[in-house]
Amino acid sequence: MPELPEVETVRMQLRRKVIGKIIESVEVFHAKSVNHDVAIEDVLRGKTIADIDRVGKLMIFSFVDEKDTFLLAHMKMTGQFFYVDENDVTGGGHSFTNADMDLPMKHTRAGFHFTDHTSLYFNDMRLFGYVKLANAKEVEVAKSRFGPEPIHPEFDVDWFYSKLKKRKTPIKAALLDQSFIAGLGNIYVDEALWRAKVRPTRRADKVTKKEAAALAAASGDVMNESIKVGGTTFQHFKDTNGSKGNFTQYLKVFGKQGTKCERCGGTIKKIRCAGRGTHFCPRCQK
Ligand SMILES: [Zn+2]
Repeated sequence: MPELPEVETVRMQLRRKVIGKIIESVEVFHAKSVNHDVAIEDVLRGKTIADIDRVGKLMIFSFVDEKDTFLLAHMKMTGQFFYVDENDVTGGGHSFTNADMDLPMKHTRAGFHFTDHTSLYFNDMRLFGYVKLANAKEVEVAKSRFGPEPIHPEFDVDWFYSKLKKRKTPIKAALLDQSFIAGLGNIYVDEALWRAKVRPTRRADKVTKKEAAALAAASGDVMNESIKVGGTTFQHFKDTNGSKGNFTQYLKVFGKQGTKCERCGGTIKKIRCAGRGTHFCPRCQK
């Protein structure tokens, strides 16, 4: 599943490619992926992409001189975005191979063709993702569902701590709750908890102020570091092999069960917490 760093990486790549492009046509390969909205082609034809914004893992395309028309895009479990021009394919999302970049392919759900003969394709094997039209009000509602992101420098640690004090769930569940703080997926929560030396099962209201500050910093750091190396996504040329991302080599606990904790030598354990596979070091995470 594409996590926030992958979404952010895709967003930044696509921004470089599609801002200023004029949509000539929209090809819908599967109606569910566009929310069964048959108007999408007529609405978007002739519009110029102004920007791609993001809140949580939701991407928001805006258009020049359009205050009430947006395109909301979410990759969910298996979504991928690929921008195609005559030289190369750029994009990513869910892990992919060369076959996914021979576009359109069998899991391509929508294609946006620009007047300069380049295209943006949305692939989504399992059909949980979408690219759908939204008006300004719907965009506001969508944005209101997300809490602040620890990735932002202005993230307020005092606020974070005061909210944790009111939660009796495991800290892991609190960190995964996108309406509380946005952006942390399963991998990054485990990594942030390891860095802050907090056990995932600890009740959120038992986290100290110092630990809350460490957690906020660690959460921002793991996401920023992952974005820096491109999450699991980066530019691929048609002739090269699709390769997996680079952040996996920096992981300290996720997927490391049975191996030694590099900080204390304890053995990394995998349990189930907040309904998710959860990795931690029982020796140094209290
Ligand atoms: Zn340890």
